[in-house]
Amino acid sequence: MSANPLQLTFLGSGTSMGVPTIGCRCGVCTSPDPRDKRMRTSVLLSRNGQHVLIDTTPDFRTQALRAGIQRLEAVLLTHGHADHIMGFDDLRPLSIVQKRPMPVYGNAQTFDIVRRAFAYAFDAKPKVSSVPSVLLKEINGPFELLGVKITPIPLEHGEMQVLGFRFGGAAYLTDFNAVPESSMSMLQDLDDLVLDALRDTPHPMHQTVEQALELAAKLKPKRAWFTHIAHDLGHAETNERLKRLGRGNIQLAYDGLQLDVATGTLARSSPAQAFDARVAGFAVFDSAEKWREFYGARKRGSILAIGNFDGIHLGHQAILKQAVELAAKTGSVATALTFEPSPLKVLRPESAPKRISTAEQRLEWFRAVDVESAVVLPFTIELSKLAPQEFVERILVRELQVRAVLVGENFRFGHKQAGDTSRLRELGRAHGFEVITLSPVSAHGEVVSSTVIRREIAAGDVTQAGRLLGRPYVLTGEIVRGTGTGRKFTFPTLNLKPEQELLPASGVYITRTMLRGELKSRRSVTNIGVRPTFNGTTLTIETHLLDFREEISPRRIELRFWKRLRSEKRFSGPDELRAQIARDIRSANRFFTLLREFRVLRLSD
Ligand SMILES: [Zn+2]
Ligand SMILES: [Zn+2]
Ligand SMILES: [Zn+2]
Repeated sequence: MSANPLQLTFLGSGTSMGVPTIGCRCGVCTSPDPRDKRMRTSVLLSRNGQHVLIDTTPDFRTQALRAGIQRLEAVLLTHGHADHIMGFDDLRPLSIVQKRPMPVYGNAQTFDIVRRAFAYAFDAKPKVSSVPSVLLKEINGPFELLGVKITPIPLEHGEMQVLGFRFGGAAYLTDFNAVPESSMSMLQDLDDLVLDALRDTPHPMHQTVEQALELAAKLKPKRAWFTHIAHDLGHAETNERLKRLGRGNIQLAYDGLQLDVATGTLARSSPAQAFDARVAGFAVFDSAEKWREFYGARKRGSILAIGNFDGIHLGHQAILKQAVELAAKTGSVATALTFEPSPLKVLRPESAPKRISTAEQRLEWFRAVDVESAVVLPFTIELSKLAPQEFVERILVRELQVRAVLVGENFRFGHKQAGDTSRLRELGRAHGFEVITLSPVSAHGEVVSSTVIRREIAAGDVTQAGRLLGRPYVLTGEIVRGTGTGRKFTFPTLNLKPEQELLPASGVYITRTMLRGELKSRRSVTNIGVRPTFNGTTLTIETHLLDFREEISPRRIELRFWKRLRSEKRFSGPDELRAQIARDIRSANRFFTLLREFRVLRLSD
């Protein structure tokens, strides 16, 4: 698969006072060359119509208007100097439009400064549109945005440790005077290196042109671009000078310059890998002790949402969102506490319901609602024997440093399910944490619960299941080799080996199919059943892509179920079956056309 490039746009390339500098009449400050007009240093990363901003400079509003920014997926902050953060308040219109707090990534020191400089945004007072609504996500390792791995690069900026970022073939290093040895290895094999080159006169916190050239000679990127440039350096004459030095692959950046950055493909993490993940903004732990080792050192407590979270339906989402909001207000860690396998599977396997989601999906969805960490406790007989008080004291209080717990009304915990919400409240009073219970959410005439959703799926009503889930019901898995009868007699199909335990009732469904490595799902019709026309006996899940004729190599797919068309029936032979499938395809096409016209459901594509 060829990966879509990432586009890097320079929104600003000037030093802290900008160029022209107020009151200065020097040749560069009065130059008519537009490339000598430098706003404060910032770049925009764009891919597939989505954008991530690096640094909110004092010029951010002007830069955003000039670049036509309407939405941002996230903001990265390199450090807390005024020329990189003072536009923070101008994130307001974006968080209003996007109706959710803006994820902001940075290191602890930067966040300390931001919290002081913009204290009004972080006090716990109720807020509307008058303050920026943000979610601070402390960077502690590589993370992913726009489908691209972003690696933080520690740099020295005077006394300060600041961050540069590497993404695919490019690195963006503004504001530094030295690169620690340990960061050098992360900057090998670059196509484009953007680096600090303030001026020719030495500065304690920035590189000179000479130092920038030395660093470029060591790292040997294909191209290098200077940024954070002072009014000492005129654009045209400095580029001339670099050419004369035989360094024509190095140039000054300028506001509006765009580079295409190769990204490579990003492998989807397996559940096993996910358990080891220490991804910024989302960390997964398989024990409560590990959670404490990680966050205890940072003196942060947890806002805990506890549950099995099978499917992460609208009710679960309400609990998780409230946990995220409360955590943002109090500086705590929004944490989902869940169990693997489900307690029932261990205690009463015969009556344990089939799960509608996999562990990997649940982690993905936790992350999607901006939960900061998940603790997936291995559920054992030993754990099940903890009395309610022991469970709370050992796990919630001692390990997870709990500040508040959010649970559904009928939450039960501890040995023999002896603990209920009133017991939890008592323990909360004794140990100083708040207990918030949420009543069930109702939607489309039904109380949302995993049990109801399982029933709808089993009965084939995937439309109603999707309404209660807040997204279409999905099956994921690998494409496996089918019998080949489909291709021979009717229509070519993809055969899915599903990872989920619970499958929809046999029948024909309108679906959309995401092929791994692609960005848009495709229209499809899916048959679940034993293929009676061909005297089949084993259950298969076969998907026919409506507007795709090529051979598809075996890989992972995701099937999104939108509507049930009919039950499976036996036809007199391939001809009759083919005619029926052609009708199914016409129905599916009509459905998708209507869907597009009326946007009946607000579910994502
Ligand atoms: Zn700066
Ligand atoms: Zn000047
Ligand atoms: Zn700085």
